[in-house]
Amino acid sequence: DNPIARKPDWIRVKAPTSKEYFETKELMRGMSLSTVCEEAACPNIGECWAKKHATFMILGATCTRACAFCNVATGKPDNLDPHEPLRVAIAIGKLGLEHVVVTSVDRDDLDDGGAQHFVETIQQIRRRSPKTTIEILTPDFKNKPGAAETIAATPPDVFNHNLETVPRLYPSIRPGARYFGSLQLLARIKEIDPAIFTKSGIMVGLGESKEEVGQVMDDLRAADVDFLTIGQYLAPTPKHAPVDRFVTPEEFQQYEAMARAKGFLMVSASPLTRSSYHAGDDFRRLREA
Ligand code: SF4
Ligand code: SF4
Repeated sequence: DNPIARKPDWIRVKAPTSKEYFETKELMRGMSLSTVCEEAACPNIGECWAKKHATFMILGATCTRACAFCNVATGKPDNLDPHEPLRVAIAIGKLGLEHVVVTSVDRDDLDDGGAQHFVETIQQIRRRSPKTTIEILTPDFKNKPGAAETIAATPPDVFNHNLETVPRLYPSIRPGARYFGSLQLLARIKEIDPAIFTKSGIMVGLGESKEEVGQVMDDLRAADVDFLTIGQYLAPTPKHAPVDRFVTPEEFQQYEAMARAKGFLMVSASPLTRSSYHAGDDFRRLREA
């Protein structure tokens, strides 16, 4: 009775086959780079990589936390590689990306939680691909003092930090994190530089109620967050938190309408929405509007 085998029709995705998919895969291997697309076993990889859209994962491939929904390896973190920002920038140049998402594992072992490494990555990308818009999807930096200031001093175009779920489910789903700490980080970035777009996201199907999702939306708007993503949680393996239920496409439409009514500038809510899914297309549309 494997929950992974019982996905509804609207969740099924095709196995990747395109030439671009294999080219992207080869480039990442050749440059020793990690992507969250692979590490998190993202269902959209065929579609995204065919379009040369990828989400880079920096600060190594081993996380210091072990969230119940996440497929990234946990353990003793890798030594910080000072050349990683440059390699990421070279790969982005080779792929010719218009918009890039850079994320990372959590590095609770580092004094600044990895904030300076994000900044160096932004600087290297800007140097080589000045037209590429940059979205960073960061950990909470364990709310270490100064992390938000470090990031905002070399601003990305979009600052994304996911709340992942409703506060009631934090102890079981996101045990290493604090809901209000994450909200504060988002609020602080906006406060320091209002020109940075801020973004957050949650997964649904973990046992949350509609009212709780509405409350998360209100909390994010109170922190002045601009963009919201909502997607179906899929258990990466039977060892991860089980799927409580599959939220229907109609319910996702209701969430999207609710979020727009609350004032988010951009909302993506669908079963296969991921934090970085179509991020470039959505951002471009917004800038052109
Ligand atoms: Fe990668 Fe994001 Fe696309 Fe998934 S949705 S394949 S993580 S870029
Ligand atoms: Fe995965 Fe991020 Fe949690 Fe680490 S902190 S286990 S990368 S979700």
